[in-house]
Amino acid sequence: MNKLNDHLLALTSVVSRDVHHPGHAKALAYLKEQLGAMGVQVDSYRNVYQGIPLESLLVTIDPLNAPPTAGWIMICAHYDSISNRSPNWNPGITAAPGADDNGTGTAALLEYARILSANRASLTHRVVLAFFDGEELFFKGSGAYVTTLPKPYPYSAVINIDMVGFNPITDRLDLIWYTDGSAGLRDKLIAANDRYAIGISPLNAQFAGDGTTILDAAPFGLAGMAAVALVQRYGENDATFPGNYTFHTVNDTPANVSNRRLWLKAAKLALAAALDLATAN
Ligand SMILES: [Zn+2]
Repeated sequence: MNKLNDHLLALTSVVSRDVHHPGHAKALAYLKEQLGAMGVQVDSYRNVYQGIPLESLLVTIDPLNAPPTAGWIMICAHYDSISNRSPNWNPGITAAPGADDNGTGTAALLEYARILSANRASLTHRVVLAFFDGEELFFKGSGAYVTTLPKPYPYSAVINIDMVGFNPITDRLDLIWYTDGSAGLRDKLIAANDRYAIGISPLNAQFAGDGTTILDAAPFGLAGMAAVALVQRYGENDATFPGNYTFHTVNDTPANVSNRRLWLKAAKLALAAALDLATAN
């Protein structure tokens, strides 16, 4: 938890990770520095959207003693931010701390890199940790990356973690899934939440086959890959979610990541489910 928090503070200290803001490059440099210190393989995936250069980072962690078998496992989170719900928003200037959205998921990915790189001997499958850019422009980093993949797709599972530290009422998260191709992975996460007594409750499975979710899992899931997203309540408020009125504003600060326990539970569940798959024969 301390390490997650350190990453969150670093990621929000750059003022904004909006693609139009100079803080974006600083955050990218922080990610590269942290990953570089771990000695993991980091590749940039670059694309351009409406003249805006985007840079996503792909960390590849392979089994230590054997070539990876088919079926790569991805865990992904976007590191860019936006504050377009703040009055007088100017993306090049306005703060966009993006603490919950998605400093929480990005911090978790950094810790996964550290944990997985030290445990390569237990892996049987390749794990790719994807730090996507341009999600706030409607998943423009992940969407472009999906179009570069060969068929059959190399990924057997994609787990996305996005906005997982806010819920002052319950330890609730939604589990977004996309097509019949995602149903098995959805059930694996529900089972892992129980088996490892992680305690996300309710863990609300929600079908999103119409593609309207703005989540990095969407382009993978809609392409037919097994893909799910762990995310705060995706939809209207109810008795288990009061609404997160700071998201996409200058007030999405670390202080407003109000449920650190839920953040840790989400980080554990995504990793546990990925490891179940990545260590299977
Ligand atoms: Zn997000």
